[in-house]
Amino acid sequence: MAHRWPADTDFALWELEVLDRGCACCGRMMHICDHRYRRLFTLEGPVQLVCKLNHCPDPLCPGHTTTKSPETEPRIALSGWIIGWDVFCWIGHRRFARHWSIPQIRGELLDSYAIALSENSVANYVRRYQTMLAARQQDLDTLRDHYRGLEQIILSIDGLQPEKGHETLYVVRELLGKRVWFAEALISASADEVQRLIALAKRWAETLGKSVALWISDKQDAFVTGIKAEFPGVPHRYCANHFLRDLAKPVLEADSHAKVQMRKKVRGLRGIERSVLDRRRDATSEVIDTRPLDSASKGDESDDNVRGGVVLDYCAMVRGILNDDQGGPLHPPGLRMTEALGQVYASLDRSLSVKKGGSPKHN
Ligand SMILES: [Zn+2]
Repeated sequence: MAHRWPADTDFALWELEVLDRGCACCGRMMHICDHRYRRLFTLEGPVQLVCKLNHCPDPLCPGHTTTKSPETEPRIALSGWIIGWDVFCWIGHRRFARHWSIPQIRGELLDSYAIALSENSVANYVRRYQTMLAARQQDLDTLRDHYRGLEQIILSIDGLQPEKGHETLYVVRELLGKRVWFAEALISASADEVQRLIALAKRWAETLGKSVALWISDKQDAFVTGIKAEFPGVPHRYCANHFLRDLAKPVLEADSHAKVQMRKKVRGLRGIERSVLDRRRDATSEVIDTRPLDSASKGDESDDNVRGGVVLDYCAMVRGILNDDQGGPLHPPGLRMTEALGQVYASLDRSLSVKKGGSPKHN
């Protein structure tokens, strides 16, 4: 699809020459036979490439009927692209390192760089970026390099569902080198399909010459049978993460129930607070009425004020404890609530024993 450039677009002109001008067939010096014009977006502004095409001047040489493009052209943009590599990398980085959405990327390109791409087109470049990334991840030489120091490896397989209702993405990871090996979306996750992925992992391990010490998964049936078939004798363990997640639900349910029971017992905060505030208000109006009186009774008033403040602080703390819903299955909120309320009880006990003979606490 051709991009419609506004008539007043101010293009920078980049002329590209063929550097090695010897004919590949006869060695003769080639001539310029044509020009190809290309327009593209770069982060520095719109660019018009003028690519000088060469061919062999000898009509009898096979090099005469073909043209050679400047070698530097693909280093600026791959063929068919309307953006340069700089924009391409910018898009890929925003998408995969910063997790921007396609509309967000499109909007920012337009606002900051006046680069007008459709959402479709951005999505297309994102897919290409992803493909390149995957290819780089799977490059055998890179992998060999990466695994040079490791004798053994640990593999894991997991099915992820990035979006509900879509097919499941099966990801095979190697845990010691911390690398995603490959991922494939399976429409039907039959035992055969899953085993095919596990067999692929086996080929990878063999190619790299590494022995597999362990497999880790959530142990769904297809994984258990597939790994048993392809890796006889290799231990297969539960993934601790999945194990915890499966445990978490009943734990949190029990915890939530316990919390409700506790909340039922700790009641009447508002009543206590109101009575403190009422007393304060009464005291204040008394003070105003009896301003010229001696300081002794004033001292009593402020003592009472301090005590009221302590009671209000306790109330605020207990309310905070009751409303604290933070914490996952490893730090269940109900358990934390029990501990915190226990500390409040202990604190009240200490205060009461020290203040023996003082005015009785509300609680
Ligand atoms: Zn030639």
